[in-house]
Amino acid sequence: MTETTDKMRKALLRIRVVQGDLTQEDSDAIVNAANESLLGGGGVDGAIHRTAGPELLAECRTLNGCPTGAAKSTGGYRLKAKWVIHTVGPVWRGGSQGEEELLASAYRSSLQEAVRLGARTLAFPAISTGVYGYPKEAAARTAVRTVLYFLSSLEGETLDEVRLVCFSADSAEVHKRALDELGDRLQ
Ligand code: ADP
Repeated sequence: MTETTDKMRKALLRIRVVQGDLTQEDSDAIVNAANESLLGGGGVDGAIHRTAGPELLAECRTLNGCPTGAAKSTGGYRLKAKWVIHTVGPVWRGGSQGEEELLASAYRSSLQEAVRLGARTLAFPAISTGVYGYPKEAAARTAVRTVLYFLSSLEGETLDEVRLVCFSADSAEVHKRALDELGDRLQ
């Protein structure tokens, strides 16, 4: 077994797919699938702001937005999580507008920000798969692959667990399958 494969197998054990409500997660940080304004929206973004309270929007106003594929963090306020990492996934425009790289970048930027903050546990929603219309299977494959590569490349810093929190049973199933497929390839 190569050293890289070994690192990837170990990293795989630190990724969990769960079905649930991201706003109730007690990870150190949760990721918000925001829009470029960072001034609130529908879906998971609206739910996070409702749970965190108005102080979250007040801090977001100081951030001057966020480009697609990047990430910026705030406090978690009334959430159980200490931090919210706001990232912006791509709007699906058919797949030839760099969507895959932008989605991978949203995951990577969020992971980098979590490490920078010192978070040991991090929870993601299925970025871009709601109103942004990214096909669920393709998004899940990019999500699990990007998280796995990132975790396997960490050296000193540690993220103990990355949770992919899926709102629906269907989304959880799709992510579990993508994770299993990745695991099979490491056998
Ligand atoms: P985007 O604009 O990036 O598509 P959405 O919020 O519309 O963001 O959807 C992203 C994903 O988050 C969707 O799969 C949606 O079902 C899911 N979602 C919505 N609310 C929650 C929640 N409270 N917890 C976890 N996931 C959620």
